[in-house]
Amino acid sequence: MKTVPSTRRTPVMPVVDRASRLPCAAPDNVELFFPVGTSGPALQQTAEAKTLCMSCPILQACREDALARPAHFAHGVVGGLSEDERHAIHRQERKQVQAR
Ligand code: SF4
Repeated sequence: MKTVPSTRRTPVMPVVDRASRLPCAAPDNVELFFPVGTSGPALQQTAEAKTLCMSCPILQACREDALARPAHFAHGVVGGLSEDERHAIHRQERKQVQAR
């Protein structure tokens, strides 16, 4: 018996649906990704958001985008990095450029 290759395509989930399934898009997680302050409960919220990012399927792309567009991603946890961590990476990059 000859097998005929299927011409059916796997349904592609719309972009909006995929985005809504990202950990940071869950309504219950908004406070984790945008903690108020940099001490007390905000530290725990930041840590929890970063942990959620580590299981995100688009972590690497998200991080690269956040670092490439700092004005667009000025606040909160993005790509598994806090605001302070993103600032530190940018400072380090500026130092490396100046050292050349
Ligand atoms: S890696 Fe980016 S897209 Fe994924 S949960 Fe974190 S902030 Fe959201």
